[in-house]
Amino acid sequence: MPRYLLQACKHLFKRSIQLSQYLLFPELCLHCKDPLMGRRYLFCASCRDYLVLVDSAQRCPRCFGSGRCVCSQFPPSMHRVATAFEGMGPARALIHAFREGGRPYLAKDIAAFMVQQCMLLDFPFPDLLIPVPSSFVHATVRGYAPSILLAKEMGLLMKRPVKRLVAKQSGYFQQTKLTGEQRAELPADLFVSRGRFSIEHLTVLLVDDLIGSYATLRRVSWLVHEGRAQRIFGIGASFDLI
Ligand SMILES: [Zn+2]
Ligand SMILES: [Zn+2]
Repeated sequence: MPRYLLQACKHLFKRSIQLSQYLLFPELCLHCKDPLMGRRYLFCASCRDYLVLVDSAQRCPRCFGSGRCVCSQFPPSMHRVATAFEGMGPARALIHAFREGGRPYLAKDIAAFMVQQCMLLDFPFPDLLIPVPSSFVHATVRGYAPSILLAKEMGLLMKRPVKRLVAKQSGYFQQTKLTGEQRAELPADLFVSRGRFSIEHLTVLLVDDLIGSYATLRRVSWLVHEGRAQRIFGIGASFDLI
């Protein structure tokens, strides 16, 4: 058989395998569940148009709150907080698939949006990224810690080091299931420093997956403030999922 015919047969065989896989297990848009005509995308064309960064125009420039400003609860060295997404629409589906859908590889895409948001908001390039810790139990059950994966991917994109300087202890409950009041009453020693570290005079970026009542970010920012960081910024993937 001529070589080119052999190549063509190989190609057709490969394509028929791909097509049968698609017919048997079609990839669906993460948000509207419409079938996707390729495996390159997570969303259909319509949903991709709605995957946009949060517009900062209507938000507090420091705490990113809309309507409710919580600036007074942060340490003086906490300069600004923001999220990449609102917790709704296609972004909600993306974050949910990452956190609860067993898709840790989505950290790369989400981190790219978070870096883009930091740049759009003129956050300075940090000296160090610190992931906001989640509980050991949840990380073990899930198989990965979302905020650590996001911080690592952001660190790679920004070419900045990532250090897990804060740990969460005895957090055996899921904070996203608590009410705002319950979160405000989190034990004072829920977050602790992981040994002695020096962050004096550094610009630090705290990285979290979800920002809800700001309680977690507030606690961690006070710890980092006590470490004498010069400036602290915070970035979350999203506000709480609606
Ligand atoms: Zn869609
Ligand atoms: Zn504010």
